[in-house]
Amino acid sequence: MLNVIEYEKVIELAGYKREDFSVCLGCKICASVCTVNDLSIDMNPQELLSSLFLGNTIEKDNPLVRYCTNCYRCTSACPWKIRIPEVVRALRESLSVASPFEKAFKGSIDIWGRVYEPYVFLKAVPFLLKEGYIKYMARWTGYISVHLPHKVKRI
Ligand code: SF4
Ligand code: SF4
Repeated sequence: MLNVIEYEKVIELAGYKREDFSVCLGCKICASVCTVNDLSIDMNPQELLSSLFLGNTIEKDNPLVRYCTNCYRCTSACPWKIRIPEVVRALRESLSVASPFEKAFKGSIDIWGRVYEPYVFLKAVPFLLKEGYIKYMARWTGYISVHLPHKVKRI
């Protein structure tokens, strides 16, 4: 659970100021496109932002903190392009929540310099099986780009 000071840190860590979230329209477009919203109605990016804006309690087992895949579908659909996955990452950092997706994303970036979805999927398989994601995979395959990535040159 976060206290008020920690809320401020989370918002700052995500690269925002608290008032930035006041632009959120509450339209819930982010929730409607959220990759993990299939798992539960509680996977609601907009509610997570309003909780932070209002300073409401956010626990370690908040579904989005636990299951967000950092896919950025919400950001891409949001009229204000609010970077919700970065807010989730800041929350994970503050609440000491480890995410198999983040680990897999980092591994992918280390190898190819970019995110390669099939690699992320393979790395997260035990977690996906345990948490019941697998039944949604047929629907989610459309999100996965399978062409082999070119390695990004490091500057
Ligand atoms: S980044 Fe997280 S919150 Fe946003 S759509 Fe993907 S799973 Fe949902
Ligand atoms: S899509 Fe953007 S503006 Fe709409 S509720 Fe989600 S975060 Fe707020």
